[in-house]
Amino acid sequence: MRETFLPFSLPDIGPDERASVLRALDSGWITTGPVTRQFEAEFAHAVGAKHAIAVNSCTAALHLALESVGVKRCSEVITTPYTFAATAEVIRYFGAKPVFVDVDPQTLMLVPALVEQAITATTRAIVPVHLAGLPAPMDELLAVARKNGVAVVEDAAHSFPSKYRGRMIGSLSDLTCFSFYATKTITTAEGGMICTDNSGHAETCRIMALHGISKDAWKRSSGEGSWHYEVVAPGYKYNLTDIASGLGLAQLRRAEQMRQRRMEIADAYTKAFSQMPELQVPSDLSEHQHAWHLYMLRLNLDRLRWDRAKFADELKRHNIGISVHFVPLHLHRYYRQRYGFKPDDFPVSYREYLRELSLPIYSKMSERDVSDVIDAVKNVTASARRAC
Ligand SMILES: *Cc1c(COP(=O)(O)O)cnc(C)c1O
Repeated sequence: MRETFLPFSLPDIGPDERASVLRALDSGWITTGPVTRQFEAEFAHAVGAKHAIAVNSCTAALHLALESVGVKRCSEVITTPYTFAATAEVIRYFGAKPVFVDVDPQTLMLVPALVEQAITATTRAIVPVHLAGLPAPMDELLAVARKNGVAVVEDAAHSFPSKYRGRMIGSLSDLTCFSFYATKTITTAEGGMICTDNSGHAETCRIMALHGISKDAWKRSSGEGSWHYEVVAPGYKYNLTDIASGLGLAQLRRAEQMRQRRMEIADAYTKAFSQMPELQVPSDLSEHQHAWHLYMLRLNLDRLRWDRAKFADELKRHNIGISVHFVPLHLHRYYRQRYGFKPDDFPVSYREYLRELSLPIYSKMSERDVSDVIDAVKNVTASARRAC
């Protein structure tokens, strides 16, 4: 058994990141400015989008994206309950209604046919989540959206760099929102990006990210600008700093290398666990490129004497950090109380949540770390195995 605790997640920060942050710090301009513009340009290029707007979280990105497609009070927005809080809270910011649709039991992502059934005259947008970094069924979702005249805003918090049938996530729908939170595939500590090909949406997001001001502060303070600015809407304070963008630029340049390492780890796990009847390994569809933000293992509980909580405790006792993704939103008090949800309203989400357990998967893990996780999972499974 391992002697030291293996954290569930660690950022991969090296000399490039340190140098890049220091350059921004020493430049004389530390908030949103030239480094952020560079980060936006390189990110837009990386995903093949016309516009990229850096913001201080994916939550902010989702908020601005929904605003730019016209979500308002009493709109309906269709999304998955199998996600993190941010995906649905931003819908509530408008006083709009999150309409949850149950997920596919294999991928735990939206089912296009069920999404179509949930569309009403007040539906404004569909928000798919590319869970763990595997793309949602975008062609089918986009077809449903187009047919019914509703927008698609992707929650791509897990999915940089992912490809859907050869095309980068970030280049497919009306707007795509990425996260650079500390645990995500590339990080700026806190941060996010909105990608779009629509210049109107890009303009709205850029203005609303900084107080609804029509010109940005950096331009005003540089030689080319003037002191004059105008507030065109009551905007928000969502801009990303140049210090954070310095970190982001260095991470962006190493994103593919880090993804390769996560893919190796995923392959090692899948090779080790796929023949064990007590475990179900996550889907990986070969037509796509998986970002492998998460490795979501599922327990076949009918073959085990222990439930997920006990299994998780035992892994921790073996010094392996684990997590659970996610407690479906309809099980949380706010959504229960507000919408009267019962666990079985979304039976697939509920059932799969009860047996999900995420294993560490990050580029700083050594070969030894990976084999320790595999040994611990095999050990715990052996102890938990039902005799008959
Ligand atoms: C992390 C996460 C977010 C929020 O990202 P922030 O950058 O922390 O705001 C949104 N959606 C999903 C699915 C996430 O996992």
